[in-house]
Amino acid sequence: MDTLTAKTRVFALLGDPVAHSLSPTIQNAAIRATGVDGVYVALRCGAADLPCLLRGIAAAGGGGNVTVPHKELAARVVDAPTAAVVRTGACNTFWWEDGRIRGDNTDVAGFRAAVRALVGAPAGARVLLLGAGGAARGALHALLEDDVASVALYNRTPGRATDLRAAFGDPGCIRVVTDRAALRGERFDLAVNATSLGLHPGDPLPLDFDEVDRVGAALDLVYAVGGTRWVHEAHARGLPAADGLEMLIHQGAAAFERWWGRPAPLDAMREALSMSSRIG
Ligand code: NAP
Repeated sequence: MDTLTAKTRVFALLGDPVAHSLSPTIQNAAIRATGVDGVYVALRCGAADLPCLLRGIAAAGGGGNVTVPHKELAARVVDAPTAAVVRTGACNTFWWEDGRIRGDNTDVAGFRAAVRALVGAPAGARVLLLGAGGAARGALHALLEDDVASVALYNRTPGRATDLRAAFGDPGCIRVVTDRAALRGERFDLAVNATSLGLHPGDPLPLDFDEVDRVGAALDLVYAVGGTRWVHEAHARGLPAADGLEMLIHQGAAAFERWWGRPAPLDAMREALSMSSRIG
């Protein structure tokens, strides 16, 4: 990316807002570290412009990511969605391949990698999943594919949790929790925060660990410089815990691998992220 050429492939993050996204930081670091001829930029766009932008950038041999609020629209625009896109109804990564626009949801791979980094393969685990939005949908897809034993699904708006369970075919291993008090006395191997609680300084914790009998580990999909308050609370209780940075890196790494057909330089991406949070 040091020298842009007539052959440079252009990758773009499409969404609104995008100005504070860390994706350009990690993707351009990966491009520099591997020496591929590409550049990654962020383009703020509305829903009306998304289909044309996405199709045009892909057809020119590039690709990119899609973020809030266009992931569901992008899932309908791409020509060849992966199973993860079909199952989650969301597309966050697109690229040109064999004359078609491919679309993937690498949040699923990112979540899976973050879980593995924290607790290893989750097969057989009892999971408490907080939230029922787009992030929860991707997380649920990965957890079911990884054969967890059960998922207790809690959301502030219970109807959304019920809809999410139904979207996965109402399997017996997913239980919608409508009354938080019912969690008292329960044990979970892993608790996942897939709500947006923690994004703002005054937010309440997504779960007070005293609300349950025991949690083995806590994975927060929200991230913050120095870790989120929920992660600090978990660590204070001696629990293994991580915020969403590992997921962010791995969803970006999976996207890089789709675009360039080579392994992503994870260390360079991590280093770029830690430099930017020190500066920011
Ligand atoms: P979303 O579709 O807008 O869903 C937001 C979720 O948060 C819903 O379940 C919502 O509950 C819940 N929520 C919001 N405010 C709440 C409150 N005051 N109290 C209780 N619950 C509340 O957003 P999303 O795409 O799922 O993203 C959720 C978070 O995940 C984001 O904020 C982001 O930080 C994180 N994320 C991280 C990564 C990563 O790579 N680390 C990737 C994707 C997302 P209701 O249904 O009741 O409104």
